[in-house]
Amino acid sequence: MAKPVLLTVDDDPEVLRAVERDLRRRYAERYRILRADSGATALEALRGLKRRGDAVALLLVDQRMPHMTGVEFLGQAMEIFPDAKRVLLTAYADTDAAIDAINVVDLDHYLLKPWDPPDEKLYPVVDDMLELWHASDHRPVEETKVVGHRWSARSSSVREFLSRNQIAYRWYPSEEDEGRQLLTAAGGDDLHLPVVITPSGEAMVEPTDAELAELVGIDTTPVSEFYDLVVVGGGPAGLGAAVYGASEGLRTLLVERTAAGGQAGQSSRIENYLGFPDGVSGAQLTDRARRQASKFGAELVTTREVVALEVNGSARSVLFADWARIDAHAVILATGVSYRQLTAPGISELTGRGVYYGSAMTEASNCAGQDVFIVGGANSAGQAAVYFSRRSRSVTILVRGPSLETSMSYYLVQQIAAIANISVRTCTEVVAGDGDEHLEHLTLRNSVNGTTEVVDAQWLFVFIGAAPHTEWLEGVVVRDDNGFVVTGPDLPLEGSRPRGWGLDRAPYHLETSVPGVFVAGDARAESAKRVASAVGEGAMAVMLVHRYLEMS
Ligand SMILES: Cc1cc2nc3c(=O)[nH]c(=O)nc-3n(C[C@H](O)[C@H](O)[C@H](O)COP(=O)(O)OP(=O)(O)OC[C@H]3O[C@@H](n4cnc5c(N)ncnc54)[C@H](O)[C@@H]3O)c2cc1C
Repeated sequence: MAKPVLLTVDDDPEVLRAVERDLRRRYAERYRILRADSGATALEALRGLKRRGDAVALLLVDQRMPHMTGVEFLGQAMEIFPDAKRVLLTAYADTDAAIDAINVVDLDHYLLKPWDPPDEKLYPVVDDMLELWHASDHRPVEETKVVGHRWSARSSSVREFLSRNQIAYRWYPSEEDEGRQLLTAAGGDDLHLPVVITPSGEAMVEPTDAELAELVGIDTTPVSEFYDLVVVGGGPAGLGAAVYGASEGLRTLLVERTAAGGQAGQSSRIENYLGFPDGVSGAQLTDRARRQASKFGAELVTTREVVALEVNGSARSVLFADWARIDAHAVILATGVSYRQLTAPGISELTGRGVYYGSAMTEASNCAGQDVFIVGGANSAGQAAVYFSRRSRSVTILVRGPSLETSMSYYLVQQIAAIANISVRTCTEVVAGDGDEHLEHLTLRNSVNGTTEVVDAQWLFVFIGAAPHTEWLEGVVVRDDNGFVVTGPDLPLEGSRPRGWGLDRAPYHLETSVPGVFVAGDARAESAKRVASAVGEGAMAVMLVHRYLEMS
């Protein structure tokens, strides 16, 4: 842990060296002693320290400096490190200024120059100041920091991106003191949020996902242009394929457009995945799978979206949004599905400001002690309800159907029934949402008697089914009416083989209408939509890739 800083500021080099020397003699073991020869340099240093999350315990500043007086400097320094103890070094003639400063900059002490002998005149004062400073908690923050507006959609998605990529961060609402101080240190303002600051103090205003990935050190560019296997999508199916592909000797690249983990990565607790009798969070499962894939040598790049698939002779090529191309012997599509949006009036405007899709875990701490509404009747909605019930005052599940039993696993229905602060409103739809800065009300309609009711609501989490990410495959592989990719024996036949299929053999089980292109997980037509089956299909697709490579 970095030592707290004692900063001394004086334009006279001799005096500056003398103060520094005296401070070092007594405090160097427990503190970092820094010096600056002007107010401007000192402020720059303070901004850097703030961005890096360091702590500053004491500012010892000369009053008479040419461009900025000591009092002026302390006035600005207070906005960055309000808790640092402030001591002014004055000549006898400046004592009036020092006394005035007690009110202006809340000065803790003024010291008359010269301070010799330090044992009598300097150290007792500094010792007292430091003792007072230590009385409160000033542990430095060594994580990435995010300063943003509480109700901003982008601030929320940046936090979600960081948590899904397992980047530890601390959140600072811009309207609170610490947030304001960090914004000042980063040279930002509250019109351009969020601001992300790395542990080394680098700051970025309103970063895109790709910029954020670069900033926090996530790989975004493949090292090679050719692989044995490219896996598109980093959910359970893609991660499963990457682990098995790399562990079985295939040069494997996994490309993920946001953060590894897919839908499962957003799950608060997966209780039915084999080998985890006490359940496992999506984040834990993702972290392990990603480490496992990397251990076997798979390359993982994130924040890169694949927008096209081409067949070039025996090569299968994937193209990125910037039209960079990667070739491979074989491709596994594992692009999964994503949430359908609630179309009720007012809801889309409030997305990220009280209305969220699947971001249960990121937002849970904001909902502590409050009332939460969840829309949806499947397992994902049930899990979120159980998760929120631990910290929220109440959780209301809104379901269109007459019961949960038809859409949710039996074990979850039982769990929910046993939790006192969860209630279920069946035959209920959200027909509108409103609020100025943030969601304030929902209008609910009962589909049995047609009545509507307006309820106070600040938090709405939506889990209403999903559509596959396969639009970019239109015209390349066969998809069903809902967009899911059709494989193997399910492909429509022309004679004894699928249309355009040029090989003697029939397509393998998870093979699409293009030989050498496989699909695993939720994006596949008739898939089970479960973590275990997605992982299993990822592994099985790799086995079929081997078979394809042997035969071609
Ligand atoms: C909240 C929640 C809780 C759940 N709980 C459970 C549970 O308890 N048990 C259970 O068995 N199942 C559960 N499920 C279902 C399970 O998570 C899914 O079945 C599983 O994640 C499917 O895995 P997948 O890899 O096929 O797809 P996904 O998990 O959807 O992953 C697909 C990935 O591909 C990426 N991608 C998409 N298009 C592109 C592109 N063009 N280029 C690059 N990347 C792309 C996406 O960003 C995504 O990360 C839950 C789902 C949710 C949402």
